[in-house]
Amino acid sequence: MSNSDITERTALVTGASKGIGKAICLELAKMGVKVAVNYNSSKEDAEKVVKTITADGGEAFMVHADVSDLEQVNAMVDEVTDAWGGVNILVNNAGIINDGLLMRMSDEAWHRVMGVNLNGTFYCTRAVLRYMVRQRWGRIINIGSVVGIRGNVGQTNYSSSKAAIIGFTKSLAKEVATRNITVNAVTPGYISTETVAGLTQRQKDTIMTWIPQGKFGNTEDIAHMVAFLASDKGNYVTGQIISVDGGMAI
Ligand code: NAP
Repeated sequence: MSNSDITERTALVTGASKGIGKAICLELAKMGVKVAVNYNSSKEDAEKVVKTITADGGEAFMVHADVSDLEQVNAMVDEVTDAWGGVNILVNNAGIINDGLLMRMSDEAWHRVMGVNLNGTFYCTRAVLRYMVRQRWGRIINIGSVVGIRGNVGQTNYSSSKAAIIGFTKSLAKEVATRNITVNAVTPGYISTETVAGLTQRQKDTIMTWIPQGKFGNTEDIAHMVAFLASDKGNYVTGQIISVDGGMAI
């Protein structure tokens, strides 16, 4: 595939009904990529993302799946493949938190976070990889977190899932490098989304002392990096863990 084929490309973005996933969908659509907008519980929000894209002349449709459920993931990938022939760009963005100190962490809180953040990344990636290998072109972009690099009190489950994504990214990048498939992770710092809006002022003030730039990021900051990696400009970048975090991981 060459640069001129960009409008032929298809993307599947998980957890795309709001926040960072939504911004990624809009940015990819602006590049002319056809976007499958995955959601789990927020159907109306996903509908709005699709409407925004189509109103701007882009092509998109929404696909339901809980990414922690293997059968749902396979059915979702089949649906996109039936519609568009396959997935060229996969963005593993769906992610949840379920915070608590380890001593009091329930099995459910541990397994649910691992199930969505890590198993979801595995299931979605495996399901699209066969097509990418056949096409000899693919982009896999995993959304990690600065917390997977630095750790954070109350987030052993979340930081473990995001640290695992780093190992996953580097290992898979080596496996598929000769097939013209790049695999990278973007690790956001604190980005203004519903999750961050829900923090107390005291928590926000503390977090601000950790960020050299002294501000939270925007969802577009992440979307721009993903769009770069998804494009031909990112051809020679693979296995990288790219922090977009105002310097927080330094
Ligand atoms: P958000 O606003 O809470 O949105 C989460 C998205 O994930 C929603 O679209 C939600 O879909 C989806 N989702 C949750 N569980 C799912 C499941 N089982 N299957 C499919 N989709 C599911 O989150 P965000 O802040 O944009 O975060 C997006 C990604 O960036 C996550 O991986 C997160 O860990 C990472 N991140 C965020 C920040 C930040 O500061 N915001 C920082 C570092 C990393 P439904 O509503 O449809 O269920």
